[in-house]
Amino acid sequence: MPELPEVEHLRRSLDPVLVGARLHAVTVRRRSVIECGARDGRSLSPAQRLAEALLVDRTIVATHRRGKQMALEADNGRVLVVQLGMTGSMTIEADAPPRGMEARHRHVLWDFSPATPTGVRWRLAFRDPRRFGGLTAYPSLQALHGAWKSLGPDALTISATDLANALLRTRRPIKAALLDQALVAGVGNIYADEGLFAARIHPLCPAASIGADQITELARHLRRILGKAVAQGGSTLRDYRDAFGQPGSAVQTHLAYGREGLPCAVCKEALVGIRVVARATVFCPRCQDLSTMVGTTLSVKDGPPVRPRRRGGK
Ligand SMILES: [Zn+2]
Repeated sequence: MPELPEVEHLRRSLDPVLVGARLHAVTVRRRSVIECGARDGRSLSPAQRLAEALLVDRTIVATHRRGKQMALEADNGRVLVVQLGMTGSMTIEADAPPRGMEARHRHVLWDFSPATPTGVRWRLAFRDPRRFGGLTAYPSLQALHGAWKSLGPDALTISATDLANALLRTRRPIKAALLDQALVAGVGNIYADEGLFAARIHPLCPAASIGADQITELARHLRRILGKAVAQGGSTLRDYRDAFGQPGSAVQTHLAYGREGLPCAVCKEALVGIRVVARATVFCPRCQDLSTMVGTTLSVKDGPPVRPRRRGGK
């Protein structure tokens, strides 16, 4: 599933090509992936509404991102949000169209003129085999920011203060809180495990009971790990490709995610796998010791400490 680093890497690879480019004809192969937004009283035909939503005959002036959502802003102020869901991609097709499997599931295709002197028309393709993603139109940047109010602060730039304010609102386990996009935008399963490992926080520790120093460390590590993953082009996910069809390369640097049973890179203890809100979660039982954490950070009024589920009936 594309996480924040893949989406931000995609945005950065699209930005220099699309900003200044004019979208021309659009081909919609699957209408159901597009949400045009509320009718506004103007008498537009369905085709006109669709063309307006998809920024046809408009020039892209900026790209934006919040969490895992990316947006294209046009010169008339309208905005199109791109959500990649589990298998989505936005690809520039500069040469011949793809063949075989790569050609399937391309739901929306735009012709556009890049801001280059060559005058060559390129194609932008939204592809999403499993269709958990989609395109959503907004009439203005203001309307977009209204919609993005339901998301927490962006994890790539989150401050310790913003993270503390978000986590104070919940007593759920920290891993569950980090995955809640309304609290923090853009942390998925991979980077939740990586951030907690780096900050030495047990994934089941109640979010509101984590001390200020550890919150500061967690915010710092989230920014560092996500920033590094963006630079490396995101994780190598089976379906992830950047705007030019290149896979990412960050998977080699994971220290916790996907390493259950392997030795901890810090203390050599075997990493443990549990499930938190139905998501596979890997941590080091020694470096991320819940008993010392809750012992120092939970007061009596916070209730009994959460015990980690032990494996093997120990
Ligand atoms: Zn360890």
